[in-house]
Amino acid sequence: MARHSRSPGRLRLTMYEFDYHRPASIAGARELLDERDDAMLLAGGMTLLPTLKLRLAHPSDLVDLGSIDALKGIADAGSAVEIGAMACHAEVASSELVRSAIPALARLAGRIGDPQVRNRGTLGGSIANSDPASDYPAAVLALKAVIKTDRREIAADDYYLGMFETALEPKEIVQSVRFTRPRRAAYAKFPNPASRYAVVGVMVAEHADGIRVGVTGAGPCGFREKAFEDALNATFAAAVLDDLLIEPGNLLDDLHATSEYRAHLTGVMARRAVKSLGG
Ligand SMILES: Cc1cc2nc3c(=O)[nH]c(=O)nc-3n(C[C@H](O)[C@H](O)[C@H](O)COP(=O)(O)OP(=O)(O)OC[C@H]3O[C@@H](n4cnc5c(N)ncnc54)[C@H](O)[C@@H]3O)c2cc1C
Repeated sequence: MARHSRSPGRLRLTMYEFDYHRPASIAGARELLDERDDAMLLAGGMTLLPTLKLRLAHPSDLVDLGSIDALKGIADAGSAVEIGAMACHAEVASSELVRSAIPALARLAGRIGDPQVRNRGTLGGSIANSDPASDYPAAVLALKAVIKTDRREIAADDYYLGMFETALEPKEIVQSVRFTRPRRAAYAKFPNPASRYAVVGVMVAEHADGIRVGVTGAGPCGFREKAFEDALNATFAAAVLDDLLIEPGNLLDDLHATSEYRAHLTGVMARRAVKSLGG
């Protein structure tokens, strides 16, 4: 078992060695990151702590975002709902504002992992980590989200670049995500029975300028399925997706599901979402 000693602001374990910081502002976090080459941000630790335990990361410093009020809360932003990066999934799921403005988003958050994960895992940590099987990418893309960081705003369509790869620069801090209120939206997910991560998840959202279909789990990162969007913009009915086959070539193929199965599930989940909206 690891032995440890503590002194203010410093945590030393024989297994790990890093300085721990808990700044009260984004500027304070920014300063710590700028001063220290190997510093990492810590949100709920749901991914980062297992990563440390597996020795897959060796930060010199952990900058805990938990005391920064500017990263918390859920606000009405008119045509959008703005959710702070440190909002945990349980908060998103239970928020009266999210439940009334974008019920599909509240339901998505309420089906992430288990109660422990939902009470520690955060929106900012989830989208910064960009696990291909995470749920939020489907919503970020379908709900025309804008990711606000300490440096700029990034449109959803420019955000996901590849496996665990986003448009975020090293040490860029996600502050909040603005999700556009749709006319209507639904999310259908085929969960991994052990972790509840999405083998495939699809959100279908109708906006004033048309339908958007966000897919997660199927590929290396979230993507929009344009062929589905075009078909649904012409006729909003699940049946119009019947003959639209997804090409499995670019999809994930692993112990959880083959690429062919993921391609099939993408159609099934999209049809379920459309049907739940009456189409
Ligand atoms: C058992 C289990 C089951 C899960 N099931 C699901 C599921 O069904 N669906 C799903 O979507 N997810 C699932 N997750 C993931 C979980 O929901 C968390 O969102 C995810 O692990 C990120 O955790 P976190 O928010 O605590 O971030 P952390 O682990 O603290 O950080 C993750 C990464 O993001 C970086 N980071 C954190 N915050 C920011 C920020 N504001 N700006 C920039 N970078 C930041 C950190 O430096 C780190 O690299 C599961 C996790 C576990 C452990």
